[in-house]
Amino acid sequence: MSKVQTLADFYKSHEWRSIRQSLMIQRSHPAKGLLCEHCKEVILKDIDCIAHHIKELTPSNVHDATIALNPGNILLVHHRCHNAIHERFGTASVQKVYIVYGPPLSGKTTYVRASKGRKDLVLDLDELYRAITLLPPYDKPTELALNIFQLRVVLLDQIKTRTGKWSQAWIIGGYPNFVERERLAQQLGAELIYIEATKDECVRRLLEDKDKQYVQQDWLNYIHDWFLKFTPTPPRSEFQGTESGTGEGTSNARRPKN
Ligand SMILES: [Zn+2]
Ligand SMILES: [Zn+2]
Repeated sequence: MSKVQTLADFYKSHEWRSIRQSLMIQRSHPAKGLLCEHCKEVILKDIDCIAHHIKELTPSNVHDATIALNPGNILLVHHRCHNAIHERFGTASVQKVYIVYGPPLSGKTTYVRASKGRKDLVLDLDELYRAITLLPPYDKPTELALNIFQLRVVLLDQIKTRTGKWSQAWIIGGYPNFVERERLAQQLGAELIYIEATKDECVRRLLEDKDKQYVQQDWLNYIHDWFLKFTPTPPRSEFQGTESGTGEGTSNARRPKN
């Protein structure tokens, strides 16, 4: 089993998930909520909480519970603080991959921008269009779709094989279909992060977005389509053993508590 897979299996194990969940509850301050153990500021959302191992996990110690599951070896921190810790100590040994999904205008890119580190790789089709056409963000000629698609395949392959020296990779996309996004997460050894927003919120943001005023109808259709196709991740009891993840414990905002 590859190094990536050994650690990925640990991060998706029931033992790891439940210890992370109970530490988040135990360490929450009754009035202030959960405070980051790095910067001491509040961690507002579940998805922004990373459980970091002080003594770094490796394929050879991952089965040692006194390291991997020891509360004394685990810090709960913000994603951005987690990047800072690893940059300072230069211990970015596992190249983690996240798939950030949700409806159009839910704030996926904003979330990645706030969470990513400087040496991270970001795969976003909208940005690929801009990179090879120099057109404004709303203008995506279908004549270039094949080139974009092939670029995406190359980058996905680099992410899958952990080619290069990037620290983490972020794949931004709608991925409304549960089966498709699970399959991609499995293939890449990635963790899924759901950026939740209601249809009304997405439509409201669209109407407020001046950059999209001439393409509003297209975007209304994208939003409508996403919600039509959306299949949420089933609760754990109906769905066991196929969840993926390589992260140190980012969780889906909607993930049921075990
Ligand atoms: Zn922090
Ligand atoms: Zn860490």
